Amino acid sequence: MTDFGLIGHPISHSMSKIMHEAAFKELGLDYTYGLFDVREGEFRLFMENADFRGLNVTIPLKIAAVKYMRELSHEARVIGAVNTIDFKDGAVGYNTDSVGFINSLEEAGVDVKGRAFLVLGAGGAGRGIVFKLAMEKARVYSFNRDPEKSHLLANEVMEKLGVKVQPVSDIKAAIRDVDVLVNATPVGMHPNVNETLVDKQLFHPALTVVDIVYNPIETRLIREASERGCRTVDGVGMLVHQGAEALRIWLDVNAPLKAMRQAVLDNLRDLAQPPV
Ligand code: NAP
Repeated sequence: MTDFGLIGHPISHSMSKIMHEAAFKELGLDYTYGLFDVREGEFRLFMENADFRGLNVTIPLKIAAVKYMRELSHEARVIGAVNTIDFKDGAVGYNTDSVGFINSLEEAGVDVKGRAFLVLGAGGAGRGIVFKLAMEKARVYSFNRDPEKSHLLANEVMEKLGVKVQPVSDIKAAIRDVDVLVNATPVGMHPNVNETLVDKQLFHPALTVVDIVYNPIETRLIREASERGCRTVDGVGMLVHQGAEALRIWLDVNAPLKAMRQAVLDNLRDLAQPPV
């Protein structure tokens, strides 16, 4: 039996195995973590036969996972997506992406309550971030390439939480009014490392810029924001903190954040090396 694992498709590029194995080693725990390539059509059968202590769930299964859970955490229920399953007492679904995002901001010293955030992207990750920021009483502006999606998201947040999210169609106009900009799109991700959604001239020094893309660690967005004097937070923090929260749920442990982060950084640096 494998104790823990990640399910989704594709999963070969995932950092989860490396990160969790580093955590188990640091904690002196003899657990195993496997990667299981599961597509949506195979999900039901996989869950019927699942024999694990815990699972992480990634694209494209996070929304589908909701219907296989006996119980959901508050975040998973409101957001409508599960990325961590605990099997101690039937399948209980959590959304540690959203918690990990907030914890990574806290670690970086970024206040949330009452602050204004502009979130770029209303896909899987952007949705979770917008919902969680609304739960944490931030003021949220949502931008999406397809504007319909940010309007739908704002309506859903109002329906479920009674909190107003402002959909915006112009990054340039909105960025002036916010304390924190969050990129929750894949723009700038390897191999398209020269892409960015934000003109460098728009960064003002009072702005904090968060990019949840972690490959490369320093995206063009992060580099240019930093050059303009902004505080920046890279995507490794969210990745490590969502994993740490999963470990807390599964094993009731304080995760070894330093070892987990180092394992991810080492792996990302290896990936960045040209093949010999
Ligand atoms: P997704 O569900 O596919 O959503 C993608 C979002 O990005 C959509 O809002 C899409 O807009 C937008 N988008 C895509 N290409 C764009 C472009 N060229 N210009 C403008 N907008 C564009 O993906 P996801 O799961 O949300 O993931 C987004 C990124 O976050 C990925 O790079 C992923 O690796 C990263 N991520 C990081 C962590 C972490 O722990 N650090 C966790 C989760 C995800 P449309 O709706 O208009 O298509």
